[in-house]
Amino acid sequence: MIGLGIESTAHTFGASVVNSEGNILSNLKDVYKPPQGSGIHPREASRHHSDVAPKILKGALKQAKVTYQDLDFIAYSAGPGLGPCLRVGATLARFISAYYNKPLIPVHHGVGHIELGALLTGAKDPLVLLLSGGHTMILSAQRKKWRVFGETLDITLGQLIDQFGRSIGLASPSGPQVEALALKGKKFVHLPYVVKGNDLSFSGILSAAKKALKSVSVEDVAYSLQEVAFSMLAETAERALALTKKSEIMIVGGVAANKRLKEVFENVAERHKSRLLIVPPEYAGDNGAQIAWPGLLYHKLGYSVEPENATIDQSWRIDEVEVPWRN
Ligand code: AMP
Ligand code: MG
Repeated sequence: MIGLGIESTAHTFGASVVNSEGNILSNLKDVYKPPQGSGIHPREASRHHSDVAPKILKGALKQAKVTYQDLDFIAYSAGPGLGPCLRVGATLARFISAYYNKPLIPVHHGVGHIELGALLTGAKDPLVLLLSGGHTMILSAQRKKWRVFGETLDITLGQLIDQFGRSIGLASPSGPQVEALALKGKKFVHLPYVVKGNDLSFSGILSAAKKALKSVSVEDVAYSLQEVAFSMLAETAERALALTKKSEIMIVGGVAANKRLKEVFENVAERHKSRLLIVPPEYAGDNGAQIAWPGLLYHKLGYSVEPENATIDQSWRIDEVEVPWRN
């Protein structure tokens, strides 16, 4: 069994072919880059996706040595994300499905990050930290859904990092550049540490970090921003671990590539006698395989939708999604 996954929620247009043994036969992408100092413009990003789609789709099939006729299903990212971007992927998937008469499977982007992470790290039943541009959530699978044990109340961790990056003139996404600056920081500056219940708030850190730039070096602010945000995550994840008693912690999403985050969670894992699993950096950011692989899990269970019902949902919550292969 083989299938195609199409990812187009935000800055990335990706396509990937996977098989039922969990082999990623191809995984190509092209990332929209906004001008320096500005954020992602939905219309421009969707135009980018339409422009690169033929090349990426053709390349993904060629690399996997298959044709559209060989596919058993087409999966696409149905949300959450930017409407114009999601529509490009959904329209292409609908067309391919209708033309070649293949089952069509909508996939939640966040479920994609998690299931690809589980495939690649071997995690069985982890406490998940989903840390991306669109999500900051602590999750555990219970009764066939990913249940939320803590989440951001305002901006995501990725948005905090990218918006801070923008304020110092970097193009989004700027995670790797902010991480490099943080490595050079030495002096800790106070930024608001806000945990409410088991939820997090990052917007106060962003405002305070921008203000601090007037009197403190950018390296020291980047360093302090990471330290405060990652400590908040560690506190909430530890509480969730104590409650759920999971023996694995898995970190997925673009921010999972951060090395300081890894160090912080190595300590957490040691304290709780848990195994720390982190999605490999080349699969941490958005990509087609995160859609193709859950597509395959759904296809095995006979899930699909008719092309006319293949919709998108810009604010689809992960705890509404059925994941029938989970506990
Ligand atoms: P995703 O939406 O999963 O593609 O994740 C994108 C987010 O990950 C963006 O906000 C990036 O800035 C962030 N990111 C990527 N690499 C790093 C890194 N090394 N450290 C922190 N954040 C990162
Ligand atoms: Mg993502």
